[in-house]
Order: sequence, then structure tokens, then C-alpha cells
Amino acid sequence: MSPIKITKDNAKAIFEQYNHILFDCDGVLWLGPDAIPNVQQAVSALEKQGKTFAFVSNNSSASRNTYHEKFKRLGYKGLQKSQYFPTCYSAATCIKEKLQIPIGSKVWVLGDHGIEQELEEAGYVPLGGTDPGLDTPFDPDHELLIVDKDVKAVVIGSTKSFNYMRIASTLQYLLADNKSIPFIGTNIDRTYPGPKGLVLPAGGSVVEYMAYTADRRFIDVGKPSQVLLDAIIDHCKFDRSKTLMVGDTLYTDIKFGNDGNLGGGAGSSLLVSI
Ligand SMILES: [Mg+2]
Repeated sequence: MSPIKITKDNAKAIFEQYNHILFDCDGVLWLGPDAIPNVQQAVSALEKQGKTFAFVSNNSSASRNTYHEKFKRLGYKGLQKSQYFPTCYSAATCIKEKLQIPIGSKVWVLGDHGIEQELEEAGYVPLGGTDPGLDTPFDPDHELLIVDKDVKAVVIGSTKSFNYMRIASTLQYLLADNKSIPFIGTNIDRTYPGPKGLVLPAGGSVVEYMAYTADRRFIDVGKPSQVLLDAIIDHCKFDRSKTLMVGDTLYTDIKFGNDGNLGGGAGSSLLVSI
């Protein structure tokens, strides 16, 4: 289908075709801590028309609980935790439902606190991550460089604490047992739109750094991976043909909707903030 420019006049007719809307968050609902003007009111108006929503973010740093607080702070009312799909949650869901790794297993993390929180909520024991033992200069005798044989998966995502101890310790797990420990990458985004007009490094830059270093590929649990879309459709009971994806990034959001045949193949909408 050819692209259609959404204007104030034709927006109503476009949204009327769909019952369910998947919203990207960064660059669509907010920029950093700040809401994009009038979006909350637009979402509220769609809700009054009976639309149902899921909020799908490739950001792995914030858990669903953190998202819930942010949505409330930005004026959204009545949302449920089950409507949020950050990739820290999809990583934990993949480990549990797709890989069926036994509950209680240890999982090595290169990433921020959101991944640790979602793994714990799913019943796993995160190692690495925000452990202050990794906030040290490189030391080849450091105990965190010794592979724990009980680690059953590795999750890598965005982190603002990227340092040599973290990448060196994570590499040991990616190489261990002939590279057989499952490697989950939260997303492939190179950058994201930050506050004050800054373009900032996103989780994909960390995931690809480690994939290159270990010479391995990874299970992608972020947009545009259909692992994530299938989980959302399943959890939310959405009708794929009546679902629209709204996002601001072609190679993740729009590909996500197109690959998933949302809206019968027409269910992707690119939102450009100006
Ligand atoms: Mg975005």
C-alpha cells in the first residue's frame, strides 16, 4: 500500500479502521522525561472511542513498574501493567516461554536495572547487571570474570554503565561451553532521540558490540522481531487485522508492523515529530 500522509482531516477515517493500537514510546509519546505535547489527549480521545492499546518500547532500561509510574506522571489514567511491553520484559518472557529455561536459573545481564527487575519478577536470578563489583578498573583476577556454571542465559541491552569489566565478564559467558549459552539481545536500535535534541546511543549499539566481539548472533526480542509481536498479540488477544502500529523509526517500528501483517498489511503508521 502507498504511504498516506496523516492530516487532521483524514486521521479520524484512518483510526476508524482499527480496534487496537500499538504505540512506540520514545519519540512518539515522549522525549526523555518530557511528554510530547497533546499526545496524551489524543490517546485519551481514542480510548473514548473504544480502542485498546499496548505500549511497545525497545528500551530495556525501565521495567513495567517504572513505565507505569512514568505514564501516571505524564497524565495517562487507567492503564494496566499488562499493556506495557518494554524489551526487558520481552527478554524475560522469551527466557520463560520460548526457551523454557527453568524458573530459578541464573541469568547473566549486561544492561540496566529494568532487565534485572523483570528477570526477578519472572522468577530468575540476575547476575552482573548493576552489580557495583563491576564498577571497577579491569582486574584479571576479579571473581566476576569466572563463569558461574549455573548461568543458563545471557541478556544484553542498553546500559549507561558500559565499561571494560562489564564487557570482559559478559564475553566470558558468550564464549563459555562452546558459545552454547543462549544470547538474548533486547533490541537493534543504533540510537534514540534524547532530550535537548541529542541523538543518544541505544541498546542495539551494546548488543551488536558484544555480538561482534563474541562472533555470535542473538535472539532479538525487540521490534521488528516477530518474537515480540507474537507475544503481544497472544497476551493482549488482539486481532492482527484490526491492529495498527504507530512509531517513529522505519527499521524497527514500521518493519515490525509490516512483517507482522498488521491491518492486513496496511497497519503501520510512521509518526514524524516536527
Ligand atoms: Mg521511537
